[in-house]
Amino acid sequence: MTGDLSMEVSSRLGEVRERIAQACRDAGRDPAQVHLVAVSKTFGPEHILPVLEAGQRLFGENRVQESKAKWPELRARFPDLELHLIGPLQTNKVREALGLFDVIHTLDRPSLAAALAKEFAKLDGRPAPRLLVQVNTGEEPQKAGVVPQEADAFIAECRDVHGLAIDGLMCIPPADEPAAPHFALLAKIARRNGLSTLSMGMSGDYETAIALGATYVRVGSAIFGGR
Ligand SMILES: *Cc1c(COP(=O)(O)O)cnc(C)c1O
Repeated sequence: MTGDLSMEVSSRLGEVRERIAQACRDAGRDPAQVHLVAVSKTFGPEHILPVLEAGQRLFGENRVQESKAKWPELRARFPDLELHLIGPLQTNKVREALGLFDVIHTLDRPSLAAALAKEFAKLDGRPAPRLLVQVNTGEEPQKAGVVPQEADAFIAECRDVHGLAIDGLMCIPPADEPAAPHFALLAKIARRNGLSTLSMGMSGDYETAIALGATYVRVGSAIFGGR
């Protein structure tokens, strides 16, 4: 790792932190309620280490295999880090995912809820990851997530049929639309389901997401650079 890379990454991280703090002040929100998840997908340890060394502890990845290759070693060095799965989870990868992730943002279908419940039952005292339900607020056919009109029923099914504790909701708004209405919709669905955790906002729109109640913002390229 070059010193330059390290300086660049930590200065971008500093800027993101400052903008998050400002967005909290603007929205009259307590900054302790807004957590930055640094999305490190596609980046190797030489990029991730300076971010860890700058004190960042929450990271997001979108693939189980990539995470398995990258994170066990980093976790051994920084045992207090938290790894978040922000990409789709196949049911046959659930067991592996439980050993890697502290939070799963992408619970989006009954078969996955069933698979998670089954593996949780075998944890034998080890902590289960926290779960967020992904909502496809834009109802885009190619995108994961439950559609808004099915969200309440799916959350109830996770809780009542599968015995899963649901912490909150996550969304990825359509790339070609203003994000604010999607964030507002996600917050509304969360409120009526008694959920307080909202994973929304990426590099281009995390300040908007904070104004609308985000508690996790998932920021990749603004910290690590282009992928
Ligand atoms: C890649 C990714 C992000 C981060 O996107 P940036 O625009 O690089 O900040 C956030 N959320 C999800 C689900 C992602 O896949």
